[in-house]
Amino acid sequence: MRIGIIGAGQLGQMLGFAARAHGHTCFFLDPAARPPAAKVGPVIQAAFDDRVALAVLAEKCDVLTYEFENVPVDAVAQLIDTVPIYPPLDALRQAQDRLAEKRLFETLDIPIPGYRRIDSAADVGLAAASIGLPMVVKTRRLGYDGKGQAVVHDADQADAIWQQLGPAPLIAEQWVGFDYEVSAIGVRSVDGDIATYCLTHNEHADGILRVSRAPVEHDLLTELANDYLGRLLEHLDYVGVLALELFVVGDKLLANEFAPRVHNSGHWTIEGAETSQFSNHILTVAGERPRATGNRGHAGMVNLIGSIPAAARQLETGTLHD
Ligand code: AMP
Repeated sequence: MRIGIIGAGQLGQMLGFAARAHGHTCFFLDPAARPPAAKVGPVIQAAFDDRVALAVLAEKCDVLTYEFENVPVDAVAQLIDTVPIYPPLDALRQAQDRLAEKRLFETLDIPIPGYRRIDSAADVGLAAASIGLPMVVKTRRLGYDGKGQAVVHDADQADAIWQQLGPAPLIAEQWVGFDYEVSAIGVRSVDGDIATYCLTHNEHADGILRVSRAPVEHDLLTELANDYLGRLLEHLDYVGVLALELFVVGDKLLANEFAPRVHNSGHWTIEGAETSQFSNHILTVAGERPRATGNRGHAGMVNLIGSIPAAARQLETGTLHD
């Protein structure tokens, strides 16, 4: 099958390697001159909202998918009658707006931290009064890796926060004193078969994922997370891999956000699971059932940012993914 992937970065490259292993061909679209995924297939160099370039990509492919959640939905939606697009654009729409995402979690009875929408400096003060301090103020759209976020400790900061992050629509969330963070990764086929990976424990610094470990051996949390994942996957009539990021507070889980794509916290599945998240994404968007998601033992992932230490090139066990 010919698979079109919007975005040719690190995740696109890993999807491309998986696609090749399953006998599929990939085409990418990305504005970068020499993106990582160029190793695995031809790249149409164009802006993500370039409608002509998107139409050319669709023309070449049997199915379209994407590697990141800030894909311009309106531009991609024009292709909906030309080629199947998985995961469905509705999932993308909801994941792109933190307010819509929170409402989706509420509709599905998935617990979340208290929140309030913010459209003015006055709303920052109102949010502080209603959900309490400290709270985290985030831009509703286009935030990633902790960008577009600020922690508010004092209601006097309202004007400064609005100056810093507004006038874009914002959202305030209760600060959660979590025990730790986990992600739940699941996959669903066109026919509705669902498979889930074991829970992954994640450590962030400055909003960026640094270390992941799997499995989190906690039956109750695993059961809860898989239940929440299942609700999302069914409700969205989802196809492909979805990652749900959660805060662990005692025996409870609070949803932070979901990503309608393969996820950095699931990199360990390449060597650590019977079938990687990348393979399962490719298999399901290509119309097949997900394959076994069991873990092969304990696994971990260290995210090397900026440069690769020499020691990482001489690992006795483990694999360097550059
Ligand atoms: P996000 O961009 O929403 O995934 O946030 C990045 C990281 O910031 C999360 O993985 C948490 O470590 C932290 N964070 C975000 N929201 C909250 C919150 N409401 N309470 C505590 N920490 C948070």
